[in-house]
Amino acid sequence: MITLKTDKELSYMRDAGRVVAGVFEELAKAIKPGVSTLELDTLAEDFILSKGSKPAFKGLYGFPSTICASVNEEVVHGIPGDRTLANGDIISVDVGAEVNGFFGDSAVTFPVGEVDAEAQRLLKVTEESLSRGIAQAVEGSRLSDISYAVQKYVEANNFSVVKDYVGHGIGSEIHEAPQVPNFGRPGRGPRLQAGMTLAIEPMVNMGTYEVQTLSDNWTVVTKDMKKSAHFEHTIAITSGKPEILTRL
Ligand code: MG
Ligand code: MG
Repeated sequence: MITLKTDKELSYMRDAGRVVAGVFEELAKAIKPGVSTLELDTLAEDFILSKGSKPAFKGLYGFPSTICASVNEEVVHGIPGDRTLANGDIISVDVGAEVNGFFGDSAVTFPVGEVDAEAQRLLKVTEESLSRGIAQAVEGSRLSDISYAVQKYVEANNFSVVKDYVGHGIGSEIHEAPQVPNFGRPGRGPRLQAGMTLAIEPMVNMGTYEVQTLSDNWTVVTKDMKKSAHFEHTIAITSGKPEILTRL
């Protein structure tokens, strides 16, 4: 069931979104060659707790950490650890936070030091595909208009969208109905209404769209080991333009 949020619930989601956005401000300063993904996790967790908020992912389905840290060919769900970032890497960080029982969820892919031109293009195209998806999240549109806008832009730029993982509704649970795929024909699915809140999150691969899960049962990687990027915002549909809740 797709829930419509009350003004009070939306205000809690704004608070949660602000915490998540603050985490990315801190991460942007900390991400550089030599830093470990565990250090980034600690930084994120300390920041969330300092705001009186709770990390949303820690313990969710058994995930052990506050952030998902996915480097290069890792698509999503990388577990923070001893790995240190190297110049030329890209790292996708996914963070969720809870305030008063309501959630915010966002992801950003950062370049580490100097990255090559194709990786820069991957980050730019993925972030822009998110903007194009969000632009479709208006009252009266259909859900798959978002999906179609993302896929069309990504494929026009000769990258591929991941099919096995999708965006989602969000609110009093981090994952609510409906699923929000990053692919598909337009004009399908539920009609969008003010008060719906969605996490839109294109995962974009340089090569094949196909992915597999490593033996840790968490880390998802591209099958061809080429790089992947991930950007996500939690948004609210309004009677006007969509409100991005996870942006400062
Ligand atoms: Mg996320
Ligand atoms: Mg999400």
